[in-house]
Amino acid sequence: MNIALIAHDNKKNDLVQFVTAYKSTLEDHTLFATGTTGLRIQEATKLNIHRFQSGPLGGDQQIGAMIAENQMDMIIFFRDPLTAQPHEPDVTALVRLCDVYAIPLATNMGTAEILIHGLERGDLKWRTIIHEKQGKENGE
Ligand code: PGA
Repeated sequence: MNIALIAHDNKKNDLVQFVTAYKSTLEDHTLFATGTTGLRIQEATKLNIHRFQSGPLGGDQQIGAMIAENQMDMIIFFRDPLTAQPHEPDVTALVRLCDVYAIPLATNMGTAEILIHGLERGDLKWRTIIHEKQGKENGE
């Protein structure tokens, strides 16, 4: 599965802890992140992560583009609900695209735990079916 990891500044420590705790699950997947979040996670866990631009510089939109191509299977996005973000429109657009494409999205640690356990149980296998169907439509 392709999994995106994003955290606003006040939530980056939480996400690093979360990814550290679930490293053994996440390392079996292809990980993507916005710039600074990805760097922090890489430094702490040594996981291999494809890093996009920093969120305020377009990273959220780059992840959104992958969602629009149906290439992203799950998003863990620890938002800071108490601090105004300069790129709030991008954040809203990302959340909206998750709803357009029915992509599992966790915006806090409580939901992220459930998503990870679902991932471990195979609850996201339906995404594989979508990829196979898409491949056939594209003649692959
Ligand atoms: P960052 O971006 O990981 O580059 O800090 C996250 C965000 O603020 O959207």
